[in-house]
Amino acid sequence: MNSSVIYIPNSTNSIPTHPSSLFPQVSKCKSIRHLTQLHASFIKTGQIHDPLAAAEILRFSSLSDYREIDYAYKVFRRMHRPNCFSWNTIIRAFAENGEDEKAIMGILLFCEMLDHGFVRPNMFTFPSVLKACAETGRVEEGKQVHGMVVKFGLDGDEFVISNLMRMYAVCGVMEDTNSLFCKNIVEDVSRVIDGKKEESNIVLWNVMVDGYVRQGSFNQARKLFDEMPQRSVVSWNVMISGYAQNGNFKEAIDMFYEMQMGELPPNYVTLVSVLPAISRLGALEVGKWVHLYAEKNGIEIDDVLGSALIDMYSKCGSIEKAIQVFGRIPRKNVITWSAMIGGLALHGRAIEALDCFQRMNQAGIKPSDVVYIGVLSACSHAGLVQEGRELFNHMINVVGLEPRIEHYGCMVDLLGRAGFLKEAEEFIMNMPVKPDDVIWKALLGACKMHQNVEMGKRVAKKLMGMTPHDSGSYVGLSNLYASLGNWEAVAGVRLKMREMDIRKDPGCSWIELDGAIHEFVVEDEFHPQAKEIHSMLEEISEKLRLLDYRPNTTQVLLNMDEEDKESALHYHSEKIAVAFGLISTSPGTPLRIVKNLRVCEDCHASMKLISKIYKRRIVVRDRKRFHHFKNGLCSCNDYW
Ligand code: ZN
Ligand code: ZN
Repeated sequence: MNSSVIYIPNSTNSIPTHPSSLFPQVSKCKSIRHLTQLHASFIKTGQIHDPLAAAEILRFSSLSDYREIDYAYKVFRRMHRPNCFSWNTIIRAFAENGEDEKAIMGILLFCEMLDHGFVRPNMFTFPSVLKACAETGRVEEGKQVHGMVVKFGLDGDEFVISNLMRMYAVCGVMEDTNSLFCKNIVEDVSRVIDGKKEESNIVLWNVMVDGYVRQGSFNQARKLFDEMPQRSVVSWNVMISGYAQNGNFKEAIDMFYEMQMGELPPNYVTLVSVLPAISRLGALEVGKWVHLYAEKNGIEIDDVLGSALIDMYSKCGSIEKAIQVFGRIPRKNVITWSAMIGGLALHGRAIEALDCFQRMNQAGIKPSDVVYIGVLSACSHAGLVQEGRELFNHMINVVGLEPRIEHYGCMVDLLGRAGFLKEAEEFIMNMPVKPDDVIWKALLGACKMHQNVEMGKRVAKKLMGMTPHDSGSYVGLSNLYASLGNWEAVAGVRLKMREMDIRKDPGCSWIELDGAIHEFVVEDEFHPQAKEIHSMLEEISEKLRLLDYRPNTTQVLLNMDEEDKESALHYHSEKIAVAFGLISTSPGTPLRIVKNLRVCEDCHASMKLISKIYKRRIVVRDRKRFHHFKNGLCSCNDYW
């Protein structure tokens, strides 16, 4: 996605098109089959000997929406002494194909062009070659191309320069990017006469900012961004997508807000870039705003933006809206389908997810491996063991997809949860890929669920050997002992953890109010309203007690690293977020909370009661799935 943000377009007119009026039939082709028919008739009538006719055929098969690179290559090879236009066409087709081998082929074709010596490369040749070097990380070749640029006197061409800089930036050689930047920016400033020059300056600035973002040097990127004499929408998009893709979700959204205060309105790319960050934080209000903004400003909700919206709505807890958006996308691609299926799975709507999967097949869309992760996890959440087994086999034997570790993980989860522990363990033993800790943890969780100590110990030992400093295996094992009431064993595990200085991942929850994200950690005392929140928590505890609710002590004991604070006052972050939500919103407002870990049994049970006592819908997204609490019940039916 990053590359699409800072993509320096070979602007549509950068490769001059031959006057298509000469061969209007070619431009009118609607498929590669049409083209081959036309091609055949050109050969029959001898028209193919007209270099313009051949060039048109080449252009269509290389760069049109219906391009087919192997065909284009054959056409090119049959050309007698192709001119510069045709060389540029075929090089660009290979360079921008998106596959490494093809890109390298583009570089080789460029070398061949130079060797032939019949035609000189021009300003349209280099950007494609540089793109190929960038995409394949071939900085040595890129440097040689740089030499050629100088040799052919094109080092004053801003389009070529920006592509050179981008090549160095993508390859991570920021010194070279920077020296080109300094050289050209300074020269440019001295040449600024009208506003126009300024624009090319912005492109160079953008490449620099993008380079630092790619390196993960956000401070430097931000500093440069702030120093920019003038910004374009691309400048903003680079920062927003950079933050979003590197896990700085809050920064991405803050930047998006900041952008709205300026004069440059967000565009299609901005929305596509910020939506994943919104999804991750569960910031439904911001997400809704983005959706509305697109509709109001005539930004087309196509398959890409639509898929991002579906993902956002389902991850922000509003599966109904996700379904609505899905229904309105005219041309759904495989990502659209997989966003919908994944969303339904996340909400535990297994039957609908499977139904959606079937409709996808009927629509003739070949499912991707991501789609299978969606359907398999749907089966796992709903305990549909047989369906899951069949889908898994179908994926391998009929569709011909190689299962990834995630698919094996889904299967272990599915079998384990449903109580087929032996089968799950055998499944792991027979996996062709090395099982990772996620898979063993899934089995360990299942051992706890079905109270199988023997296997649990075995699995935990394995895990501790694999990732000795990860708290997961210890916590899992102590959960298992605790569920059996074996406190001595729990204490043993704790001691071991302390000896090895292993700490549990801190729990963290978010709640969104009026577009602002509030973040809470265990025992949060730093919030400006900490006092009010605390009395609300006490009120909740009191009301729960009146309902004869006893805190699940097995869970309380799990917060090993917080044991000093261990008492009735010990609240998990999601409870704090709920208390804050209750005091900050008007009665009846649903509360939406995102939690970074899985919700524990005690919190789950309390949430059910809180939803009943306070007559609120509470939607909690934990690391695995959604829980919709309403009137004392949860959508997961306590199977999670
Ligand atoms: Zn909890
Ligand atoms: Zn639940």
